[in-house]
Parts: sequence; C-alpha cells; structure tokens
Amino acid sequence: MKIIELKHVKKVYDDGFVALNDINLEIESGKFYSLLGPSGSGKSTILRIIAGFSRPTEGEVYFDGKDITDLDPAKRQINTVFQNYALFPHLNVFENVAFGLKIKKMPLNEIKPLVKEALHTVRLDGYANREISELSGGQQQRVAIARAIVNKPKVLLLDESLSALDKRLRKEMQFELRAIQEKLGITFIFVTHDQEEALSMSDEIFVLNDGKIEQNGTPVDIYDEPINNFVARFIGDSN
Ligand code: ADP
Ligand code: MG
Repeated sequence: MKIIELKHVKKVYDDGFVALNDINLEIESGKFYSLLGPSGSGKSTILRIIAGFSRPTEGEVYFDGKDITDLDPAKRQINTVFQNYALFPHLNVFENVAFGLKIKKMPLNEIKPLVKEALHTVRLDGYANREISELSGGQQQRVAIARAIVNKPKVLLLDESLSALDKRLRKEMQFELRAIQEKLGITFIFVTHDQEEALSMSDEIFVLNDGKIEQNGTPVDIYDEPINNFVARFIGDSN
C-alpha cells in the first residue's frame, strides 16, 4: 500500500537556488527506504518537505492518498530523527522520551506505558531514570529513536542519523535500526551518503544527484546497474 507520494516536487530556495527539480517518488508502508546521494544533492530538503518543515515551491505531497502539502508538521503521522539527536542532557531518559507527549498535555498514566513500550523496542528496558550524560553514544542514539516512535508514527525519517557514530557502533546500529523497523512494521526513510550502508539496509533505494532522482530500485537493481557509474561517483565523497 502506498503511504507517501511526491508528485513533481520542486524546491527553489529564497536565494534562487534550485535544490530539487521534478521529484516523483512513491513510498509503500512497512518498508525500509534509503535516500542515497552525495552532500548537497537534496536529501535533507526532501525529508523536510515530507515532514512539513519546508514547503515545496511546486508539486504536491500525499499521505494515504490525501494531499498534505500544506498540512502542519504536528498533524502529520511522520516523525524525524536528526543527526545530532537533539536530546536534553539535563533531563533523564524518561523525560526526554516523554517530552513531546507532555507538551501535548497527555496524562502521565497514558504517557508511562507508551514510554515503557518505546524503551523496550530500542532495548533500553530499565534505563528510564538514567541521565543522558551517563549513556554511551549508541544508547543516546536509541533514546532519540525511542522519542521519535513513542507516539506511534506511521513513518520515521532518519537524516544521516548514524553518521556521528564510530565505525563499529555504526555497523551495530545499522543492524539495530533494521530490526526496530521490522518490529514496528512502519515505514523508515533513511538518508545517507554511504552507499554500502544503503545497500545493506534497504528494501528500496532512491539515488539522488543534483536535486534529481537518478536511480530507483532494490539494492540488487542498483548494484547491478552500471550505466551511471554508481560506485565511482560516491568514492571520495567523505562528507
Ligand atoms: P543534502 O542533505 O543532500 O546534503 P540539502 O537538501 O541539505 O542536501 O541541500 C541541497 C542544496 O540546497 C545544497 O546545495 C544546499 O546548499 C542548498 N540549500 C539547503 N538549504 C538551503 C537554504 N535554506 N537556502 C539556500 N540553499 C539551501
Ligand atoms: Mg543533509
């Protein structure tokens, strides 16, 4: 079932820069997608448009068949995990995960079981009272994911969320993220400039370059498709 669709999306920033040009993509529910492309290719811009933080200059965004192009981000069932996690270091794990629910004035007796379930999903049972500063990088990453899934979104957007981790932890979190996605059965759209990461994690990949989708398919399709000199282009893009 199709959950998100972008039709003819164009983004021109205020300075006249065309960051996206005629982006068309279809996202099905329950799958793991990657948006793969070099730095500056427009990956974060696509995520911001899907999340509603940025409006397309032209084109439409659909969710479950409804046009949500002008819908408030808080009213979309779409959450985002950013690269720097943006956790509150002076609040404990529970308060960090519960933050958005408290802002919405949900009663504590409803918040508690949701936080417990989210912490269980990311394998942080028993960590509710820990300080953020006591946690390892990987554990902090998992708190950020718990916070993003606690209100049961239908789609989770992850913007280079593993890039800050060291290599070993990054491998571990790739496996972990995929396991969380399968456990929740929701759609993940994962942004990365690391082709190996995209190839190993995804059901489907969109390859972005200069604000256009150049390739789209399964990891096998992408790997087997030599015409765009895919591998060569990404070697050397360390950003
Ligand atoms: P990526 O996430 O793939 O690195 P972005 O979507 O962040 O790419 O940016 C795509 C292009 O748009 C880049 O060239 C970037 O400099 C430009 N850009 C991003 N945000 C703005 C903005 N607010 N104003 C002008 N240009 C921007
Ligand atoms: Mg980006």
